Amino acid sequence: MSKRLWFYTNYHCNLACTYCLTESSPSVPKRIFQPEEMISIAKQASELGFESIGITGGEPFLIPTLVDTLHSILDILPVTLLTNGTLFHKKRIEELRSLAGRDLRMQISLDYATPQENDAMRARGNFEKVIQAIPLLLDIPLHIRVASTIDQHTSQEEDALNKLVHKLGIPKKDHIVRKIIHRGRAQSQGLGINASIEELMPELTLTVDGAFWSPFAPTYKDGRLQKDLLISNTIQPLSAPVDILLSFIAQIPYQANEHTAGFV
Ligand code: SF4
Repeated sequence: MSKRLWFYTNYHCNLACTYCLTESSPSVPKRIFQPEEMISIAKQASELGFESIGITGGEPFLIPTLVDTLHSILDILPVTLLTNGTLFHKKRIEELRSLAGRDLRMQISLDYATPQENDAMRARGNFEKVIQAIPLLLDIPLHIRVASTIDQHTSQEEDALNKLVHKLGIPKKDHIVRKIIHRGRAQSQGLGINASIEELMPELTLTVDGAFWSPFAPTYKDGRLQKDLLISNTIQPLSAPVDILLSFIAQIPYQANEHTAGFV
């Protein structure tokens, strides 16, 4: 089992990407994981031997107190935070300066090397916002990674994307490329590759709905939670879903797959 514990902070998002696993958008129920509960569970995670925390959504930066929560969790364990990178206005950049030097990796989505192609999957103006934000974040300095979720990219499109990410100052080791997974809105849109439970690396993932097999699991389709990878409705004490996941792992052979192995 991975030694990273994931939280879904919320399910709403300022974007509504065509392949979103969680059908996130500005209008969906927020399903907010209360910060105090996340911090309490992070402490339990540390005591149980977890080595890091992953945070995703929805868009975590829609939670006004996110930076304070990050500081509290970073006092306990290192954090990898996934964001769409579009909410980094001047005030937010100033606020993020307090995170310089902390054990935080911020992973920003960028799917294509041109605004036309990128924004067709994500939102108009997304490309420009991300391109402008990355140098500001690197200047703070923060550890920035770029995640590219791809579907039918040609080798030329992949090359162009790699060159752009390099030009932005992101080293190859910090550029994560993975396929769209055929769940959630991607499933409704006929996008992505199937991923069985055997292909998804077990990484305990908590949301307000319960505990799941992996961060690819707590998906929504047609407004309903997809429960096939829900392992427990109980998330506290953390030892309860940990024990359940371990018992599943004992029965299910996991086979690594470069595209379904993990979120980061
Ligand atoms: S893929 Fe990410 S950025 Fe896009 S709608 Fe879903 S949560 Fe928001």
